[in-house]
Amino acid sequence: MNSPLDPIRKPDDIDAALRPKTLAEFVGQEQLRANLGVFVAAARARGEPMDHVLLHGPPGLGKTTLAQIVARELGVGFRATSGPVIAKAGDLAAILTNLDNHDVLFIDEIHRLAPAVEEILYPAMEDRVLDIMIGEGPSARSVRIDLPAFTLVGATTRAGLLTTPLRDRFGIPLRLNFYTVAELERVIARAATLLALNLTPEGAREIAGRARGTPRIAGRLLRRVRDFVHADGTVTVDARAADRALNRLEVDALGLDSMDRRYLIMIADLYRGGPVGIETLAAGLSEARDTLEEVVEPFLIQQGLVARTARGRVLNGPAWSHLGIKPPPGVAQ
Ligand code: ADP
Repeated sequence: MNSPLDPIRKPDDIDAALRPKTLAEFVGQEQLRANLGVFVAAARARGEPMDHVLLHGPPGLGKTTLAQIVARELGVGFRATSGPVIAKAGDLAAILTNLDNHDVLFIDEIHRLAPAVEEILYPAMEDRVLDIMIGEGPSARSVRIDLPAFTLVGATTRAGLLTTPLRDRFGIPLRLNFYTVAELERVIARAATLLALNLTPEGAREIAGRARGTPRIAGRLLRRVRDFVHADGTVTVDARAADRALNRLEVDALGLDSMDRRYLIMIADLYRGGPVGIETLAAGLSEARDTLEEVVEPFLIQQGLVARTARGRVLNGPAWSHLGIKPPPGVAQ
């Protein structure tokens, strides 16, 4: 995918500057924020490391941001890595032994840890020890090393892919949900202030309504809209300016981009609305199955446009009307 709506594109400097720094600045996810606030305060009051946290939800909803906020609010150090980059058990051992007491270690995409790496994480999380093998053959022996007390914050877009032993070791599992339009308006208004951009409330609403419930996308769209507005020689982003820019970015009224529409149209046109298997769709669209499952589908499902069934993906009624396509005879609209 290469679109402003791709929520997993690498963050840049402006992304970092727009990141909320405290729980109070973090918009939305009220229940989760309130609970985290309690756990952080309790850990601080007891002078203990906080229990391990698992954050799960689609990309771009604020998992990395929350992990950084937790470290800041606990007043401890923050170290970040990700599942696929930890190739060997020794890599994780090096990270763990270099932590300072009470540090937060953030592992993004934790469902993609290699099994051998995951194995050494269990005793590290549970008993804060590292069991490593030294030597090979008959002279090999196991050595136990004490680790600093640390808090692991794991993030995943696919909680279902986590092994049970790993999932069970997180005392605080938290799920992030898509944001409401009103919440995204606040995210956008805050970002516009930080970018010194003149944005009307109607302009913010227009962008928020088309940001796929995702703050990262809201920030991206705001910046692209800013580019168009500046290129046109205007200074204010109102609803009309936002609408024009978003149309030029091929972001439709629901916030769907060309990839979403290709996905829906393929099910509608080639498979009469489904059911169709995910592998077939991935091949037809030349997209990785993971991308479809983690990036494209969650929002389409949340919007009620598509359903995942045991036999495959099926278009729901609203998808036909959104696409402006008449369903074939016998298929409910
Ligand atoms: P994830 O780790 O879930 O993919 P990030 O934490 O990297 O998502 O967040 C993506 C971007 O969205 C960040 O740059 C941040 O500025 C913004 N963001 C995420 N959540 C919020 C929020 N609740 N309020 C304001 N901005 C947010």
